[in-house]
Amino acid sequence: MAALKAVLFDMDDTLLDWSGFDDDWAELEARHIGGVIDYLRDQAGYTVELDAFARELRDRTTQAWAQARQDLRAPHLGRLLFETAVALGVPPNAIDAERCMFAYNWDAISGTVIFPDVPPCLKLLHDHGIGVGIVTNAYQPMALREIELRTHRLLDFFPSCRLSAADVGYLKPHPYIFKAALECAGVAPHEAVFVGDDLHADILGAQRAGLKAVLRITSRVQDGSALINPDAALSTFDDLPAVLDAWFPGWRD
Ligand SMILES: [Mg+2]
Repeated sequence: MAALKAVLFDMDDTLLDWSGFDDDWAELEARHIGGVIDYLRDQAGYTVELDAFARELRDRTTQAWAQARQDLRAPHLGRLLFETAVALGVPPNAIDAERCMFAYNWDAISGTVIFPDVPPCLKLLHDHGIGVGIVTNAYQPMALREIELRTHRLLDFFPSCRLSAADVGYLKPHPYIFKAALECAGVAPHEAVFVGDDLHADILGAQRAGLKAVLRITSRVQDGSALINPDAALSTFDDLPAVLDAWFPGWRD
């Protein structure tokens, strides 16, 4: 019988509850783009219209995600911002992709909260020496998502193993990102459990990588996934310890 060594979590709608988000994404994006426009003006001496930048960025982002659905190569916000600036006439050697990205001033999104069942569950795992990790299908690199984790007081629970698809290069369910997460956690697939809310990305991806997969049931409707069977499904993380008891007897001893 294998011992449980790590539990890996998806981030959005698994740890972070988006159900209260009702902001307009275009407006939110425009506020962030303002910082990039300022950076291009102050650092490179180029004036770019905010509306033109927003349009170009949205087109490129839409295109990048459409392509990603085909090949699972992860879009990258920093690269998209850089390419947008270049497409609008800013010379590539006048700007830096990473500084474009930080000028975007990413932060926790208004309306998002950590599910209340998350901190007690993470504490229980920690108290029993079980490693935890995050694997998110974000186009924001982890350096940006960490800002959210810090604001939500979750960063300290994840001292080392935090992966964003933007950094890894591949999106879940691609096996490469699960392999990277297992390496980061220093565990074998049969020593780890994956918890996520997306049947295709999280459940199918984790199972194909050899992990047991737990579905976080949310109000979000999922289509076309009748053939994917999570190893367990739960509405609250309060039920996770009992699931782990059944699979890894004695993990709390
Ligand atoms: Mg999710």
